[in-house]
Amino acid sequence: MNVEESKANPENEVIPDNIDVENNSPKKRDASSSVYEKNTSIIDLPQTESKIIFNVLYGRTTSKKHQTWDGDGFLEVTGKSAILKDLDGKVMGRKTINPSNAVEGSRLIIGNKQIEIKDQVSQELPVPEGHSEERIEEPLPKKFKTTTGYVFVLPKKEDTDALVCKKEASSSTVNSSPAEISKISFNVMYGQITSKKHKTWDGDGLLEITGESAILKDLNGKVIGRKTINPSNAVEGARLIIGNKQIEYIYIKGLVMNCEPLVMPRTNSACISSEEQKVSVDFCLVAKLREHQRYGIVFLYECLMGLRVPDYFGAILADEMGLGKTLQCITLIWTMLKKGPYGKPIVRRVLVITPHSLCNNWNKEFTKWLGSHRISPYVIDGKNRPKDFIKHPRNSVLIISYEMLIKCHMEISNITFDLLVCDEGHRLKNSSIKAAKLLREINCKKRIMLTGTPIQNDLKEFYTLVDFVNPGILGSSLEYKNYYEDPIVASQCPNADENVLSLGSERATELHERTKSFILRRTQNTINKYLPHKYEMVLFCPLTSEQKDLYSLVTDAWFNKVCLQDKSHTHLSIIIALKKICNHLNLFINDKENALRETLSKAICTIQVKQDNNFTKYCGKVTILQVLMRNLKKTDEKLVLVSYYTQTLDLFETICNIEGLKFLRLDGTISSSARSKVIEQFNTRSDNSKVLLLSAKAGGVGLNLPGASRLVLFDSDWNPASDVQAMARIWRDGQKKNVYIYRLLTTGTIEEKIYQRQISKASLSESVVDLNHLGSLKLSTAELKDLFTLATDTVSLTHDLLNCSCSGQDNGSISSEESKTNDNEIGDCPLILDDKSSQQNLTINQLRDWQHYKQPIPFDIMQDIMLTEAGDYITFIFKNSKMQHTQTN
Ligand SMILES: [Zn+2]
Repeated sequence: MNVEESKANPENEVIPDNIDVENNSPKKRDASSSVYEKNTSIIDLPQTESKIIFNVLYGRTTSKKHQTWDGDGFLEVTGKSAILKDLDGKVMGRKTINPSNAVEGSRLIIGNKQIEIKDQVSQELPVPEGHSEERIEEPLPKKFKTTTGYVFVLPKKEDTDALVCKKEASSSTVNSSPAEISKISFNVMYGQITSKKHKTWDGDGLLEITGESAILKDLNGKVIGRKTINPSNAVEGARLIIGNKQIEYIYIKGLVMNCEPLVMPRTNSACISSEEQKVSVDFCLVAKLREHQRYGIVFLYECLMGLRVPDYFGAILADEMGLGKTLQCITLIWTMLKKGPYGKPIVRRVLVITPHSLCNNWNKEFTKWLGSHRISPYVIDGKNRPKDFIKHPRNSVLIISYEMLIKCHMEISNITFDLLVCDEGHRLKNSSIKAAKLLREINCKKRIMLTGTPIQNDLKEFYTLVDFVNPGILGSSLEYKNYYEDPIVASQCPNADENVLSLGSERATELHERTKSFILRRTQNTINKYLPHKYEMVLFCPLTSEQKDLYSLVTDAWFNKVCLQDKSHTHLSIIIALKKICNHLNLFINDKENALRETLSKAICTIQVKQDNNFTKYCGKVTILQVLMRNLKKTDEKLVLVSYYTQTLDLFETICNIEGLKFLRLDGTISSSARSKVIEQFNTRSDNSKVLLLSAKAGGVGLNLPGASRLVLFDSDWNPASDVQAMARIWRDGQKKNVYIYRLLTTGTIEEKIYQRQISKASLSESVVDLNHLGSLKLSTAELKDLFTLATDTVSLTHDLLNCSCSGQDNGSISSEESKTNDNEIGDCPLILDDKSSQQNLTINQLRDWQHYKQPIPFDIMQDIMLTEAGDYITFIFKNSKMQHTQTN
C-alpha cells in the first residue's frame, strides 16, 4: 500500500478559488483579433508560385546517426526548386526536390550539406488576378478607457502610423497592388559596418518593410537609412546593410507582432506638466507582449508609482501559471531601469528574490527577452557575493534565492534597492518565516509579489502577503482581525444567523474593494482564445472478468467486515486496492505491502494472471490504452500518459516496449535538472520519443508539454484540480495542434464514483480533501457503501446519474434551461469573489451538453478519436461537443 500515492500535490489544493480581479484588460479593438493568428507570411511579393521558407540546421553529410550541426540556415522551396542559404543570405546549395519531403523534422541533402528542417518561417503566396484586399491596419483610437477608469493615452497619430504592424496573411488575403502591400516591422539592432566576425551594436531600431522598400529607424522614429531590398532576405537572424549601418533583424517567431506602442500613464494626470516625459516600453519587448500582459505591466506600473493607492507602492501579481508573469515583470523592470517621467530612470537597482531552483531561470528569462547585450543580471551563488554586486556600476538586477538571502542578509542590507520582486511570493505567507522578516526590513517601498497560487482563501495569510507589499494598508494585524477576519469567519459558520451573515458579507466585500486596486489575478482562460481546439472525452472501459472477480473479493471483505480492527485504515486500504485493480490486477496482486493481501491471499491464488505479453488483456483500461498507442504509431503526434501511481508508469513502460514506442519518463524521483532536460527533449520536434510517461505528482513550475497533442489521464484523483492541471499540460501556449484528452474510467467502479464526486458539488467537501492528505476518512457508512458497491448492470453510472433521456447516439443531447442557470454557482469563499479559474472543473451540467455515445458507437466517432479497433471494448463515451474556446467557465 502506498499512502503517498493518494496524497494531493500541494500545489493542487482544492480551494474555492474565488478571487476576481479578472479581465480588466483594456478593451480589444476589433482589428486586433486577427493579429494573434499565425504569422505565416513575411512578405507579399507578386509571384506565380509560392515560396516556402524553412529554418534549417545544416552540417556535413555523414552516415552517423547523431549529426552535429555547423549552423543555422534557411531553405527556400519554390515548386520543386530548393535553395539552401546561410543566415547572411549566401547561397550554399541548390537542388530539385520533391516538395512534399520538405516538412518539419525531415532531413535532406542539399549540395554537400545535410540539413534538418526545423520549422516553417513563412509562405509567400501566389497572386490570383483581379483580387485585392486592403491590408493596412486601421489607425488606432487615440484613447480608450479601461474598466479601472484611467485613460490609456496612445501616442500621436504619426507614431501610430509609423508602426503599422503586419497583419495576418491568411491563404485568402493577398495583394495585387504595391500601394496596398502592408508594412512589416522588425526589431533590429544596428551598428557600424565592420568585417569583424563578432559585431558590437550601437543600439536598437526598427526596420519597416513595405514591399521592397526598407526603412531603418531608431527607437525614436528617426530615419537612419533607406534601401530597396529583396524582402525574402528579411528574416530573423539575417544581416543586411541599410544606409551606412549594418543591421540585424529580429524576427519574432510564433508570437504576436504587437507593434502598438505601450506608453505608461502619466504620473501627474491632474495638470499635464510639459516637463513630464513619456515613459514607453522598448519595442524589443512590446513586440512580444500579449494584450493581457500589456495590461498587467501598466497595472504594476501604476501600483509602483503610487497612482492606484496614494502613498502605497506595492502590488501583487497573482496570474495563473502560463500567463507570463516573468515577462511582465521583466518588461516593467527594464522600463523603469531605463526611463522615467522626469528624465532619470525610476529605479536603479532591483532585487529579485526567488526559490533556489528558479534563480537561473530568471537569469535566462532576462537574456531571452532582452538579449545579453542589454542586461546581465547578477545571480548570487557560491561564487558571486552581494558585496561585489555594487562594485560594478552597470549592475542593476540582483537575483538571489530565499535561502541565500538569509545567509547574506547583512550584505544585502547594505545595498540600496529601489524595487523588490518576490517570486513565488506565497512563500512569505507566514510572517514568522525568516526570509519574510528579513525582506520586510529592507528599506524599499516599491514591491512586487508574484504568485500563481490563489492567495485569498486564508484570511491570515492574505493579510501577511498584503501587509508585505503595502505595509499598514489594512491596519495592524489586530485591527484587521477584529474588523475583517473575525466577522468573515463567523459568517462562514453553518449556524450563523442573519446578522452575522450580512456583516461577514459586508466586510468581505469591503476587503475585496480595498485590495483589488493592487492585486491582479487572471486565469488561463485569458489566453485560451489563442490556443488550438481542445477535444476532451471520457471513455468508459469495462472490467474484465478477472478484474471483476478480484474486485468483488475486495469489496466483499469490506461488506462482510473481514477486517475491522482499524476502521479508517481498512477503508483506505480498500480504496487503494480497488483503484489498483482498476488500473491492472497485477498492481494489486504484486503489491506486497497491501494489508488486504494477507487476508485475501487464498482467494487471490485462484485468480490466474499470466505475466506474458498478453497481460494487457486482463484489464479493460489497458486494452483500450493499447489500441490508442497502436494508432498513435500511425500519426506524427506525441502522447502524454498520466497516472498517479508509479507502478502504473512501470506498466506503461511494458506496453511501450511491447508496441515498440520510444518513451521518456517523468516521475517524482527525477532531479529538477534532469526533469527540465526531459521536458525540453520531449518538446523538441526532432526528438523521436512518442510517449511521455508522467506521474501526475511530478507537477510544478515549467511542466508544459506542448510537444504532445494527445494525453491520456489513466486514473483520476479525488481532487478535480489535480486532474485539471494534469490535463492542461499539453493545452498550453506554444501548442500548434488540436489537442485530444482522454480520461479513462472503469465502468461501474470506484473510479466512476470518484469522478462523480469531482463533477458534483460534493467534490469540494472537506471529507474528500482530507482523505487526500491524511488517509483519514470522514465518509459516512452509507457513503462508503456506495463507494464500494460495484455496479454491473450499467454502461455508465455517470450517465445514469445525469438522468439523461438520450439514446446514446448523440442525436441531440438534452440540456435543460434549468440546468444552465445553475452553472454559475460557485462554492463559498471568504471573499465572495468569483474567480473564473481555468482550474475549475467540469460540472454535471456541462457534461449534459457533451455528446453521449453508447454501443454501437458509430465508426466515424471511433475513427475520429483514434480508437478504431477499440469499439467493442468501450461501454460509453462522453465527448465535448463545443469548442473549448467558447466555454465560459
Ligand atoms: Zn445522454
